[in-house]
Amino acid sequence: MQILTTIPETQTACRTLRTTGTLGLVPTMGALHAGHLSLITAAKRDCAHVAASIFVNPLQFGPNEDLAQYPRTFDEDCAKLEAAGVDLLFAPTVETMVPKNSATFVEVAGIGDRLDGVHRPGHFRGVATIVAKLFHILSPDRAYFGQKDAAQLAVLRAMTRDLNFPVDLVACPIVREPSGLAMSSRNEYLSADHRQRASILQRALTAATDLHKAGRHNTAQLIATTRQLIAQDHNINIEYVAAVDPGTLLPLDSTAQGALLAVAIKLGTTRLIDNVLLEPAHVQ
Ligand code: AMP
Repeated sequence: MQILTTIPETQTACRTLRTTGTLGLVPTMGALHAGHLSLITAAKRDCAHVAASIFVNPLQFGPNEDLAQYPRTFDEDCAKLEAAGVDLLFAPTVETMVPKNSATFVEVAGIGDRLDGVHRPGHFRGVATIVAKLFHILSPDRAYFGQKDAAQLAVLRAMTRDLNFPVDLVACPIVREPSGLAMSSRNEYLSADHRQRASILQRALTAATDLHKAGRHNTAQLIATTRQLIAQDHNINIEYVAAVDPGTLLPLDSTAQGALLAVAIKLGTTRLIDNVLLEPAHVQ
């Protein structure tokens, strides 16, 4: 695996890779777990060559968020990527990706201000700006993202469409711990007790999914059920429970045509998100 840190050498290496087949890109912030590796597996399945990036993007952290504490495990990450068969790792410095004179940002208006965008102002502007730069630097044919960050996916789909990036976005299913907790680099912050408590998110989403499957399509009711189940644990602060269109992130009244049911909570100081895509109901 080539490990590259500068933009010109990465551009050259990616151009060379693409002369012999398609290139898949898996952008990450490192502290890699099985969720990230599932994206690599999907990219390996589809593409002749696979590139990953590790960049803890300061633009997507708010002033009171965990940028300084965010886990950084570069050597272990390299070993995992190498073992997974990644061809090229782009691991730039902050100064390389966001030079001091940087004045151009990518803002996906509307979508970028919904769900997590409400609670983390500027977050999706930071994500979209860096992913746009990665698309320019690596010129992938496909890019792989986790369904776990469903709002991010909606923002990046809109950005890719609006800015005419010739990149196919591929959404990959959420990988979970045995308890049902969605894997996340931030799970490292949780105590064993909190990790166990956090599994209520998936149980609540599953309960709502069962109601939807049983024909209860009223989103107010599904949201209330999900909220009630999560709120039983007084250690959890609910940031949002929402049923939205997965493309626009606008609220829906009914799940009959399908919906994204998404939650964000705080457990102690750790922010966790999870979601489920509710399938359109079968017409009888
Ligand atoms: P991050 O390093 O948290 O920025 O995540 C990098 C990519 O991995 C994003 O596309 C995430 O959506 C994806 N990802 C993170 N956790 C999971 C998970 N548990 N299952 C699937 N994909 C994930």
